[in-house]
Amino acid sequence: MFFRQFGSLLATIAAVYAALLACYLITCIVFTRLNCRAIKIQPLRQTSMSQIRRDRRQSVVSLAVIAAMLGGGDWSYTTLGWGLRPLSGIGGTVFSIVASLVLFDTWFYWLHRLIHTRFFYRRVHRWHHVEIAPVVWTNNSDRMIDNLFLQSYWFVAHLLIPIAPAVLFAHKIYDEITGVIGHSGYEHGGRWCWPPSPLIGVTHHDQHHQFVRCNYATHFSWWDRMMGTLHPDHDRVLKAIISRSRWM
Ligand SMILES: [Zn+2]
Ligand SMILES: [Zn+2]
Repeated sequence: MFFRQFGSLLATIAAVYAALLACYLITCIVFTRLNCRAIKIQPLRQTSMSQIRRDRRQSVVSLAVIAAMLGGGDWSYTTLGWGLRPLSGIGGTVFSIVASLVLFDTWFYWLHRLIHTRFFYRRVHRWHHVEIAPVVWTNNSDRMIDNLFLQSYWFVAHLLIPIAPAVLFAHKIYDEITGVIGHSGYEHGGRWCWPPSPLIGVTHHDQHHQFVRCNYATHFSWWDRMMGTLHPDHDRVLKAIISRSRWM
């Protein structure tokens, strides 16, 4: 019994890992190509090949840790019944995905601010900030302890909101794709990210790598605007990029 359950846990984690790794690779390759039709946010900075290789190596490890958390949470929910039953119908599905987006953004914002404090920054988060001008491959270049702070949401999400496993998985895939794009160094979001849209564009997280102590959220700009942590030049820079771009 124990070995069968342990085997199903490992199989779940392995399947999630394969999906996340494939999503990371495909999104990185696609957006490396699409960068040529977008505007570079830090045109004077280049990232070296050795840094890119560092990011790729670390991402392979980091995605395994995230897969263990998402797969472990999924297995606990489906096998042990740990979690809230999802609401039924299309309305229930829409509610759960919106709730998950808002809750994860809140989780990410506050824990991200926590690991930028003097005590945690060097111990937890500095690895990710070695890249001042991030590239697509930087998205999952984090140390394991960093993932325990920011990505542990995926392990406990079923305990917090009534969401079906497939919907939570879809949210993680969205997070992975937008995370890779957000590190591309080229603005791909444009008008989609201009107020009143609450979505963040690439400029938002690119400035986080440039200036470090600003722009902490991951999906929406609400928390940064409310708490006064949005970079003072964010809107001006994004507007200038939108006005220069033929595609946005
Ligand atoms: Zn950070
Ligand atoms: Zn980053």
